[in-house]
Amino acid sequence: MEYDVIVVGSGAIGGSIAYELSTRNLNVCRVGETDRVNAASKAAGAMNGCFGEVTSGLLASDYGRLKLRMDRQAQDLWPTWAERLERSSGNTRPLFSAIGTQVLLNSAGMDEVDTVNYEAIEQTLKEYGEPFETIDLRTMGWLNPDHLVRPLRGLFIPNEHSVNSHLLLEKLDAALMAGGGTLKNENARRVLAEGEVVTGVELNSGELIWGKKVVVAAGVHSLDLLNEFDNLVKKIPPLFSGYGVSILVKLPDDLPLPDSVIRTPNRAFACGLHCVPRGDGILYLGATNILSERPKQQALVSDVQFLLDCAVDQLNLDLHNAEIISIQVGNRPIPADGFPLIGECGIDGLWLATGTYRDGLHQSPLLAGYIADCLTDVKSTDLDLSVFNPVRAPLTGLARESTVQETVKQMFATGYEYRWDIKPYWLPLLDKGLSSNYQQLIDDLHPSFTPPPELVAFSYLYESMRLRLSQYYKEWS
Ligand SMILES: Cc1cc2nc3c(=O)[nH]c(=O)nc-3n(C[C@H](O)[C@H](O)[C@H](O)COP(=O)(O)OP(=O)(O)OC[C@H]3O[C@@H](n4cnc5c(N)ncnc54)[C@H](O)[C@@H]3O)c2cc1C
Repeated sequence: MEYDVIVVGSGAIGGSIAYELSTRNLNVCRVGETDRVNAASKAAGAMNGCFGEVTSGLLASDYGRLKLRMDRQAQDLWPTWAERLERSSGNTRPLFSAIGTQVLLNSAGMDEVDTVNYEAIEQTLKEYGEPFETIDLRTMGWLNPDHLVRPLRGLFIPNEHSVNSHLLLEKLDAALMAGGGTLKNENARRVLAEGEVVTGVELNSGELIWGKKVVVAAGVHSLDLLNEFDNLVKKIPPLFSGYGVSILVKLPDDLPLPDSVIRTPNRAFACGLHCVPRGDGILYLGATNILSERPKQQALVSDVQFLLDCAVDQLNLDLHNAEIISIQVGNRPIPADGFPLIGECGIDGLWLATGTYRDGLHQSPLLAGYIADCLTDVKSTDLDLSVFNPVRAPLTGLARESTVQETVKQMFATGYEYRWDIKPYWLPLLDKGLSSNYQQLIDDLHPSFTPPPELVAFSYLYESMRLRLSQYYKEWS
């Protein structure tokens, strides 16, 4: 039997693409274990982050601004997407878990990072004519932070919600099956091709599945499936894992759930501190983002400790009384240049849909529609994402001359978030030391290609990351 399309990956991206394709009368097989160990989608807060995700770095390039347009378009798709999933899956539990987002700027972190990003959010909301209101922090009823990290400013974005990521994945599975799609609860070993044409995938059990087209959406593991196409993979930005921890807690009886998402702006390489109500007294606390050499399955004590300290201190001191329901670990797929890998890649019929970093869950209906449009020659969006074609030289986000300074700033902001206590005479010394180390690293890597700040910071620590970057840069030199 030959399927029209095989989709590899059972996260939000693979799940959404498979479902969308199956509703377009294609015979679809989705491959991948449904327990989704270390999947980003399962650990995600699932904020429909659009404006709340804006940073000065995102706005610094055309590619970043294109990502913002994708986020904005995705925002409009969610209400219909939720209705479609409800109808197709027969599961009527509401998908949205919070209505609106409160963005708070507090005294944790650093002016040059947090205030700058907060103001970038406010400015972008104005430019897009998006409704929002400035809020009096004393009326942000639910907050009860430590005085040392009290909020300074706040705004409410009424149209930026969140969904329950576990329920979304459940609904995607059920919707695909109900629509006649096939679901193989097993991982793939490799993609198969004859000559320059894709033919299917081999499962870990050795079973072969044939398909006219294959879409690989296996998150941070996606490129592992293409190992046999060495010449091709060398030209695709390597994927790094943005290992993240999030925690579900059951609130004490006298602490009600907040109605909306509460978050800080993105800060210090990470996605900002946030909490998201999940119903039944369960609150999601997120999240860390540490680039690691390999995807992780278990959380480090240090990350759990840091996240809980931040949540109790900055959000609500009464959280110390909450019960931990689960500690979730996910790996964000982060490409070497920080931008998504979307499109057909080098082998006829082989598509990649990954590299979504920290807003992939929100973008999943949009990417599903886009990939399905490409495979069926129907046009449901005016977006042209061809610049994100996976076989590419590195895209430039932040200008090379700003990268060292930005990396140092973000590192310092991490220190302040940890409430370090540095005497003033240390600061210029640290600045100088970090700056010259990072400059040296960038100069050694390549004369013009420059990694984004988080990759500079972490590849300074890990040789394997430097090696992967320099091999990729060499291919395009
Ligand atoms: C802690 C955390 C919080 C986040 N918060 C948000 C948020 O609030 N909003 C937002 O939009 N985004 C958020 N993100 C980012 C978002 O989760 C990702 O961008 C997105 O979920 C990526 O989806 P994916 O389907 O590509 O990858 P994943 O969710 O990682 O899924 C990949 C799937 O492929 C499977 N797979 C792996 N290898 C194979 C194989 N060999 N064969 C078959 N299948 C395989 C995996 O098991 C997994 O199920 C967050 C991420 C993390 C880690």
